Amino acid sequence: MKKFLARQRQDGFFTLRLKSAAGKLSATQLLAIHNLAEKFGAGFVNLTSRQEISVPFVREENFDAMKNFCAENDLKISPLGTIFKQVTACQGTQSCPAGIIDAPKIAGELERFHGGQEFPNKITCAVTGCPNNCMKVEANDIGVKGFVEPKFFAENCVHCGACEKICRVGAIKVDRAKKLWMIARYKCVGCGRCVKVCKNSALEGSVGLKIFFAGKDFFPPVQEDELYKIFYAALKIFSDHAKPRERLGKMLERLGTDDFKEKIRAAGNF
Ligand code: SF4
Ligand code: SF4
Ligand code: SF4
Repeated sequence: MKKFLARQRQDGFFTLRLKSAAGKLSATQLLAIHNLAEKFGAGFVNLTSRQEISVPFVREENFDAMKNFCAENDLKISPLGTIFKQVTACQGTQSCPAGIIDAPKIAGELERFHGGQEFPNKITCAVTGCPNNCMKVEANDIGVKGFVEPKFFAENCVHCGACEKICRVGAIKVDRAKKLWMIARYKCVGCGRCVKVCKNSALEGSVGLKIFFAGKDFFPPVQEDELYKIFYAALKIFSDHAKPRERLGKMLERLGTDDFKEKIRAAGNF
């Protein structure tokens, strides 16, 4: 059975955790959290590393009253234990100029499919809107990162060199004299800055999602529908093959990444 109150070191006190939508809470919800902390806690809250709100110093005997309060005020209590934890995300295209993908929307979908699901051990997951990687996806069991693959249209290129200048990793070389444009794909991190700077329609960006398992990316960038299928398959493998209390990374080490990848491919028909 799921637990919702974390025992504190102070005798008789517990902490209640509330979910956010990838860090987003409305002003009305914040007001309700204020009232909850005043009424049942110690008048303050803490922010967790998983973009949750924790309300410390609550009493176990008040749990039902807090549950009702949360239900009436559009607040979701975050369960504890070996579950698919709240998915964290940056704002991505919702407000960040560097955003490539709508990270909160993808995080919301993953929450909807898997949020609170129980596994042999907890699963942490983060979605980051671009290769700047503000959410540090490799530090999670599963991570998703927005990626742009630049596609080149030679007939439109005037060899101005703007793309070469803006690329921070030196992936593009333009030779004006010889009218050559070259890209080292292995260097490209997929930020899409070259695509944005080209005013001659010589570069177009193909947006994809990179998926990381325990910090490793096994697959080329995928589209959103494929991402959800890969997630589903990977979580099923974790559920079926992980030992009790084994983390995803440890299971990967034991199975071998090739075997894991093959199992995902087989399960999802990729
Ligand atoms: S990862 Fe990219 S999109 Fe997300 S907040 Fe950082 S810079 Fe913006
Ligand atoms: S910015 Fe566009 S036109 Fe200029 S060199 Fe790059 S691809 Fe060619
Ligand atoms: S997408 Fe970013 S890293 Fe890749 S070539 Fe363009 S500017 Fe460079």
